[in-house]
Amino acid sequence: TYLEQLQKALDFIRDGNRFLVVSHVQPDGDAISSTIVVGWLLEQLGKQAVLMNEGKVPVRLQFMDRSAMIINYSLSQPTEKFDRIIAIDCADFRRIGLVSTLFTEDAQLLNIDHHPTNDAFGAANLIRVDAAATVEILYDLIEHGAIPLDKEAATAVYTGLLTDTGGFRYSNTTPRVMHIASRMLAEGAPAHFIANLLLEKMTKAQLLILQRGLSRLLFSEDNKIASLYITYADMAETGAVGDDLEGLVNYALNVEGVEVGILLKETENGEVKVSMRSAGMVDVSAIAQSFGGGGHVRAAGCRLEHGILETTTLVVNAVREALDK
Ligand code: 5GP
Ligand code: MN
Ligand code: MN
Repeated sequence: TYLEQLQKALDFIRDGNRFLVVSHVQPDGDAISSTIVVGWLLEQLGKQAVLMNEGKVPVRLQFMDRSAMIINYSLSQPTEKFDRIIAIDCADFRRIGLVSTLFTEDAQLLNIDHHPTNDAFGAANLIRVDAAATVEILYDLIEHGAIPLDKEAATAVYTGLLTDTGGFRYSNTTPRVMHIASRMLAEGAPAHFIANLLLEKMTKAQLLILQRGLSRLLFSEDNKIASLYITYADMAETGAVGDDLEGLVNYALNVEGVEVGILLKETENGEVKVSMRSAGMVDVSAIAQSFGGGGHVRAAGCRLEHGILETTTLVVNAVREALDK
């Protein structure tokens, strides 16, 4: 049961001394917030924590002080090995990326996640697929351990909820999410500041990349599928970074009548990163999985080693088949 999983997770933490805490590559708001909450939690329990990610913390999330403690693996090339791992917001082992090279062969891993496609890759697994965000599960863990909240934890939990629910708008915005958010406000989470920073503000590069993306909007299947793409040259020429693409796929999805919105992004090494969003008729996680990726029913992704146009054709065809069913 979930309660047993919570207890096992706490036992896992209490039994260890020094932990490596890692979330997924290209971390989002929930990934960074979860890393911070686990770092905070370990500190409360008197444990040592090394926080790490394959990449850097998005600039917009650096307002949380503890984010400065998240080591960028790619920049610092650490060599210390770890035998106690806490992986958060990772649907499968591959999402951990290069940080997994620091695990000892006999490493014990606690897997905390909310993705329906999670394959329970840990020695201990704390998975709740009806949680809106991994921070919601961490809230359960904090409650289960009767650990008193403070403003820092409340801010990170609130941020994870806000970002993974698209500003409390997606279908995962349950009464419970609002209840927890309310408690976090009471604990001092600066809600207006966070919403302004993460939902309203745009970088100039973000607007320029939006301009390029919209100029490539392509409709198919009687306007039920809308796709757009961003080339590596677009990124270089506008000065945009990965974070600047957040939310871009929603412009495709949000057109009236569109069932699936697709964003294709060419990466530095020539791969294409695909983001899919569904209005509800199609399970995009199944499509993503068929290409080796994963995610949620309404939000999923994968990476393909083809060009942009070929990838577009492959993915659009898969979505068309799903729509026809
Ligand atoms: P996004 O499109 O925003 O990158 O990701 C949407 C959802 O799909 C997220 O929940 C993310 O965890 C999942 N996702 C995106 N790319 C991949 C991937 O390559 N593999 C897996 N397993 N999940 C992915
Ligand atoms: Mn995530
Ligand atoms: Mn998440």
